[in-house]
Amino acid sequence: MTDHDPFPLPRVDETNRPYWQALAEGRLVYQCCKACGHAWLPARSECPRCLAAETGWQQASGRARLVSWVTYRKAFHPAFADRLPYNVSVVELEEGPRLISNLVGLADPEDLAIDEPLALVLREEHGVAIPAFRKAG
Ligand SMILES: [Zn+2]
Repeated sequence: MTDHDPFPLPRVDETNRPYWQALAEGRLVYQCCKACGHAWLPARSECPRCLAAETGWQQASGRARLVSWVTYRKAFHPAFADRLPYNVSVVELEEGPRLISNLVGLADPEDLAIDEPLALVLREEHGVAIPAFRKAG
């Protein structure tokens, strides 16, 4: 990593600010539609199911399951070179929304299974709270 390759931080805007603010307070939240009840991540200004603009936020339990994953053995950004190999996963919260995240604390990065039960872990990266997951149990 050089001075020309700063750590890639999230872009916070009016739509996703409640998500990042909740993480800073130690909570993972997801967006939900006040018209049809659909729930989703990442944040957007309209419901992806019915396009209603009346949306709200709910707190996630932190329980989730593993949908898919890859193990990165090459760093596609210099900021991540010192953590190879690392996991990038699609995780489904028990409330339904899916997010791309990282599994941490893996003794063996290949010892995973579809539907593996997961638990939320909040990590700090360069002053920003980031959601990650570990194997539950
Ligand atoms: Zn809706």
